[in-house]
Amino acid sequence: MAGSVFVNIPDPQVEALVDLAAIAHNVRILAEHAGDAAIMVVVKADGYNHGAVEVARAALAAGAREVGTTTAAEAVALRAAGIEAPILCWLNTSDTDFAPAVAADIEIGVSARAQLESVAAAARKLGRRATVSVKVDTGLNRNGVLPAEFPDLLDLLHDLVTEGIVRFRALFSHLALADEPDHPVNNMQRERFLEFIATAKEHGLEPELVHLANSAAALTRPDLAFDMVRPGIAVYGLSPIPEISDFGLRPAMTFRARVLRVKHVAAGEGVSYGHQWIAEHDTTVALIPAGYADGVPRTLGGRFSVWLGGARRPGIGRICMDQLVVDLGDNAAGVREGDTAILFGGEPDQPHAQEWAETLDTINYEIVCGPRGRVRRTHLGGDR
Ligand SMILES: *Cc1c(COP(=O)(O)O)cnc(C)c1O
Repeated sequence: MAGSVFVNIPDPQVEALVDLAAIAHNVRILAEHAGDAAIMVVVKADGYNHGAVEVARAALAAGAREVGTTTAAEAVALRAAGIEAPILCWLNTSDTDFAPAVAADIEIGVSARAQLESVAAAARKLGRRATVSVKVDTGLNRNGVLPAEFPDLLDLLHDLVTEGIVRFRALFSHLALADEPDHPVNNMQRERFLEFIATAKEHGLEPELVHLANSAAALTRPDLAFDMVRPGIAVYGLSPIPEISDFGLRPAMTFRARVLRVKHVAAGEGVSYGHQWIAEHDTTVALIPAGYADGVPRTLGGRFSVWLGGARRPGIGRICMDQLVVDLGDNAAGVREGDTAILFGGEPDQPHAQEWAETLDTINYEIVCGPRGRVRRTHLGGDR
């Protein structure tokens, strides 16, 4: 329409489509496994790159009770976006200014005395009680409190609770081998966790709740569920233990791009940098405007296919910064500029994030964290 301020905005060239109905479905699957335990949806790293706010809202609407993040800043951003459920963060340097988190009623997971001192300082400054949980190291040997450090931390915590500076909420820990459900280390961590709980009680500190299980344990080890499970990857519809099962989960992210050009390539011609691929016979190729800057790893070159024109189309030649090429053969399907290619998604026949993970010798977690930069993220469905 002449003079209209409205323009026809086409679909983005490259897009990560996040289906919030899949998030809700996956939370319901987890709830079936969790029994009486509550669900904390883990939305660290911007919801495993799916959008922390949108995922948290969808998961809470589907029955999750609490929200977990890594940093205090991530937690405060969720609160600022209007999430009212309990939010826990658990990985912060002791020089973090915890005042914004205390002011926003964020539960702060501490794993060292210096962190607790810093939280207490923020609470004093604000004249407001801080909610603290303690992360204990039961065998992962990353950031929990070690048994030898625990009594000292408990003494300080006890003083702060008595003083009214701190509310002690939970004791929690993280598993090292949950993706091997029968591994004896899981049992060892459970035993150590029970010892930590007993020690806290001996110091007069009774946690309101205790929690240990990530996705893998939530789906396979009901005996480790305690009061709450903390699933991340399963909420996003990817299996924490693909060798065992997909557990009926539905991948929430579809990574897709629109065909920018379809062209003829004559027999003997090379395609893309280095001519790593040479046409054996006359063929048709499609140029897809997604490359390693968008989260398509260059090392995937020649080892993947996309879903396009109703079939898998093999990627050919090198993946570049901004583009990749697939072979359409005689293009009997009539693929045209503007058609959508699925790089990975959730429907049967489509390439799956797990497939990329196996090809690249990594895990599906890293694959969904890939799309970035120019990729436009769009949310579908759910209660927004
Ligand atoms: C990331 C994380 C989780 C979730 O792990 P998944 O394997 O994605 O389910 C749970 N707890 C803690 C402490 C974490 O860091």
